[in-house]
Amino acid sequence: MKNKIFVTKPFLPQREEFDKYVDRIWETDQLTNRGPLHEEFADELKKYLKAPELTLTSNGHLALEIAIKGLGLSGEVITTPFTFASTTHSLALNGIKPVFCDITEDNMTIDTNRIEECITEKTTAILPVHTYGHMCDTEGISKIAEAYGLKVLYDAAHAFGVKKDGVSSGMYGDASIYSFHATKLFHTIEGGAIVYKNQEYRRLFEGYKNFGIENEECVSLIGGNAKMNEFQAAMGLANIPHLSEIISEREEITYRYHRNLEGVAGLRLYAPYEDKRIEHNFSYVPILIDEKYFGASRDQIYYALKKDNIFVRKYFYPLTCDFECYKGEFQNSDLPVARKISEQVLCLPIYNGLSLEVVDEICVRLLKLKG
Ligand SMILES: *Cc1c(COP(=O)(O)O)cnc(C)c1O
Repeated sequence: MKNKIFVTKPFLPQREEFDKYVDRIWETDQLTNRGPLHEEFADELKKYLKAPELTLTSNGHLALEIAIKGLGLSGEVITTPFTFASTTHSLALNGIKPVFCDITEDNMTIDTNRIEECITEKTTAILPVHTYGHMCDTEGISKIAEAYGLKVLYDAAHAFGVKKDGVSSGMYGDASIYSFHATKLFHTIEGGAIVYKNQEYRRLFEGYKNFGIENEECVSLIGGNAKMNEFQAAMGLANIPHLSEIISEREEITYRYHRNLEGVAGLRLYAPYEDKRIEHNFSYVPILIDEKYFGASRDQIYYALKKDNIFVRKYFYPLTCDFECYKGEFQNSDLPVARKISEQVLCLPIYNGLSLEVVDEICVRLLKLKG
C-alpha cells in the first residue's frame, strides 16, 4: 500500500460545526465544572440513549473506576480477560480481585454458563464487557446476579449506538460505562459516561467525579477528579448529529469485508447483524485465523500486512490476566476459549472515510497470504 492504513482513525466533524460550540465557550468564559455545553451534551446523550440518568466523565477508564466506587464493589468481581487493559486495571486499582471467567465462541463475551463456578463468598459483582459492541447475554447475567445478590456493571466502551430489542446497550445491569475516546466510534477527544437507572447513584457518581464536593462547605466523600470539560462537550455536541451516518458507513465497510472474506477456509468472521434483536454499531471487524486451515498463522499475517503498510491489530492479545503486571497475582480458572481466540484474532481497519476500494485491496493482500 502506498499510504499507511491504520486499524482506526478518529472522526472529525466539519471545522465550522465544532467552532459553533467553541465560540460559545468564549462567550461564557466557562471552561469546565458543569458548564453549559456539558449540561447540553448530557441532555442530548440522555435523549439519544433514552437513559434516565447519566454522568459524564473525563474518560471511559475513570467512568469505570467511579462506577466501581459508587456501586460499592469490593472483594472479588467476576470479569473476562479478553478485553482492553482498562477493565481489569479498574478493579485492581480499587483493591478488588478480578476473577477471570471464560468467553463464548459465539460472540466473544462472558460465558454465562461459566459464571457460577467463579462465585465465592467474597464476590460482590460481575463486570462483563460488550466486546466489539457484541451484546452480552444480559438476561442470563441478570438471572445469576439476582440469585446471588450481585451487582452488575457493564463495560460498554465498544457498544455506543448498539441496541437490543430497541433498548440502548447502556440500560442493562446496575450501571454501564461508555468510552468517548478519539479512537472509539463516537468521541469527545477523551471522555466517557456512566449510564444508570437508579437516581440514588447520582449523588455518588457525581461526587466521585468532583472531589466529593456537595456544596461550598460540605465535602461528603473522598473523590478524585474526572470532570468533562467544555471543549470535550463541544466535540461531543458536534459529533452527535453524525451518528447515523457514522454507523451506516461502517455497516457498508463491514458488509464489504464479509462479501470478500466469507467462506474462506480457516477464516471466521462475526456477523452480529444476523441477530434480529440487535441493532449493531459496526465498531470493529474482528476475524479469527485458524492456521491449520488458512495455512498461515495470525502472527504471520499480522507482520506481513504490517510490512505492506496495513496496520491490523491483535485486539485482544495478550489476555489481561497474562499481563506482566499481573504475573502470579491472580489464580486463573481455565480459559480455553479466551486463550484460543486471543491467539487467533485480528481486527481489520474500519473507520469513516475508509474507501471500499481500499477494503477490497486489504482483502486481496490478506488472501494472498493463504497457504
Ligand atoms: C477504550 C476502553 C476503555 C477505556 O476508555 P478510555 O476512554 O480510553 O479511558 C475501557 N474498556 C474498554 C473495553 C475499552 O475499549
